Amino acid sequence: MPLQIIQYPHPTLRHRSKPLRRVDAELRKLVEEMFDLMYEHEGVGLAANQVDLPYRLFIANPEGNPDARESEGVFINPVLSAGRGLAEDEEGCLSIPGLRAPVTRNTSIKIQAYDLDGNEISGEVTDFMARIVQHETDHLDGTLFIDRLGPAQALDLRDQLEEFEFAFQSKLETGELPNADDMAKRLRELEQLRT
Ligand code: ZN
Repeated sequence: MPLQIIQYPHPTLRHRSKPLRRVDAELRKLVEEMFDLMYEHEGVGLAANQVDLPYRLFIANPEGNPDARESEGVFINPVLSAGRGLAEDEEGCLSIPGLRAPVTRNTSIKIQAYDLDGNEISGEVTDFMARIVQHETDHLDGTLFIDRLGPAQALDLRDQLEEFEFAFQSKLETGELPNADDMAKRLRELEQLRT
C-alpha cells in the first residue's frame, strides 16, 4: 500500500511516537515516499504520524521545492531545547488541508536529532525553519497546531473541523478506513518492528 497523508481526526495524529531504534531499507523507501507526498501536496514539512507511521521522524524542506535537495532534512528522534523569542504567524497542516490560523512559536530553537545514516544533527534553527521543526515535533507528540490556538480562533475554526470529523466518521462507516482496534493493532506491530 502506498503511503497516504491521513487527515484530522485520524487517531494516529494523536499518537505519541516512540524513538526509532532501527533504520532499514524499507524505512528509507518510506522516507522517500514521504518526500514525494510532501512535494505533491506543496508542504514544507511532514511527520511520520501524518502518513500513519508511529515513528519519531519528520522530514522538512523550507524551500518546499524538490529541486532544492540541499535544503532537505530528515530528522530522527528530534529533541528541541532552549527556545527563545516569540512570534505569531499563520500555519497550516497537510492533515487539515485548507485550514489556516495564526500560531505563536519560538523564533529560535535548538534541535538535536539523527539523519538516516545515524549522523547526529545538532544546531540552532531560526524563523521559518524554527516554526517548521516545532510544528513537526509537535506531531510526534500527538499535538496539532489547532491545539495551540486561542479560544476565539479555535471557535472560528469549529465548523470547518466538524466537517473533517464528519468526513472521517463516514469513512469509518463505509469501511474505507479500518476500525479503531485494527488501526491500533497495526501501529503496535509497526512499533515492534523498529522502536
Ligand atoms: Zn502538520
